[in-house]
Amino acid sequence: MVLSTRATQAKDAIMTVSSFLAEAQERGNDPDALDFTFGNPHEMALPGLVSAMQEQLEPRSVDWYAYKTSERSAQEVVASGLRSELGLDFEPADIAMTQGAFGAISLAFALLADVGDEVVIPVPGWFCYAPMLHAANLVPVGAPLAPVDFSLDVGEIARAITPRTRLVIVNSPANPTGRVYPKETWDALAEVLDEASRRHGRRIWLLSDEPYRRIRFDGIGFASPAGSYPWTLIDYSYGKVLLAPGQRLGYLAISPLLEPAERSALREACNPVQLAIGWGFPDALMQYSVPALESVSIDVAELTRKRDRMFDALHSAGYTLTKPEGTFYLWGRAPGGDAATFCRALAEQGVFVMPGTLFDQPAHWRISLTATMEMIERALPVLEAAEGMHRQ
Ligand code: PLP
Repeated sequence: MVLSTRATQAKDAIMTVSSFLAEAQERGNDPDALDFTFGNPHEMALPGLVSAMQEQLEPRSVDWYAYKTSERSAQEVVASGLRSELGLDFEPADIAMTQGAFGAISLAFALLADVGDEVVIPVPGWFCYAPMLHAANLVPVGAPLAPVDFSLDVGEIARAITPRTRLVIVNSPANPTGRVYPKETWDALAEVLDEASRRHGRRIWLLSDEPYRRIRFDGIGFASPAGSYPWTLIDYSYGKVLLAPGQRLGYLAISPLLEPAERSALREACNPVQLAIGWGFPDALMQYSVPALESVSIDVAELTRKRDRMFDALHSAGYTLTKPEGTFYLWGRAPGGDAATFCRALAEQGVFVMPGTLFDQPAHWRISLTATMEMIERALPVLEAAEGMHRQ
């Protein structure tokens, strides 16, 4: 055997996604392909992103491109942004700069979990949680979201918890459903986690995966579970709000509500553990750009128009869909209930969408709204006709 058990498990868990990604990359420059699979850009990069990086490109000192751990200027900007967004007293030392949310999630695993620990993840949820957990020698345990409206089912999380549970991952705004959860949900979850931690004599931590935090529609508010449960780490990525997932930038934030000993143990561990897991810091250029990037964003009003156009047209055509409150995804039931067949039929007509099989939901499908309005208009007749053809 060449591969380790964990590499084999990780590979098996992500195989379908990685072949989908390879196909999407191949389609990349094909002007005829209407690709709604991944949350990738379909227009040139935001000018604010490009100018922020250009400004930092020219070295200002000999150590400009030296090894960089978390840059103080970036930590300061992130902590102050979090203070105003979440109303919690974050300090720069609570922030570990990472390579996107991916890097922050890996760091959280390394900081908190021991080999064989169980980690509760939402189903349907982001398709990389399980493979990342396998690669870290951890055990994913799925907790179903509520059927129909996909709200967080705290009872299901309670049922998924065992004496081996170390971590619960939540994601709001949620991929793939677009749901945004209210503070009452977090208060209820905090009660469950606190009670289970006491019962099992071991603290259960919460990882709040928030890369879509700033992408919300219709003025809906945002509550982080970090405000309800002190044993929460927040991960974030700039890849979504800048629509530039190829430029790796994000962070892991430690809750200011933790008691001081736990807070400082985590603060002190971030740097050495990031080093140990393979230099888990963003590139120097991306870190210098944080102060300028903090205020750069995709046009959420335009994204709202795309959501409305797609949702309204598909809804009128007979589709059953969850209207997203955030993220840039639209999630629905495949007509006929077999998403793989439905998505293959669409692909034959040049419209590429993601089957729910990638999210352990074989009857559902996902559309990425990062496509242009022009792509949406071209795809709609195909999608509208497909509903009638596949409905039983
Ligand atoms: N978490 C969720 C829910 C995601 O959807 C993604 C990316 O799609 C990530 C984390 C990783 O984000 P990034 O690639 O920006 O690190």
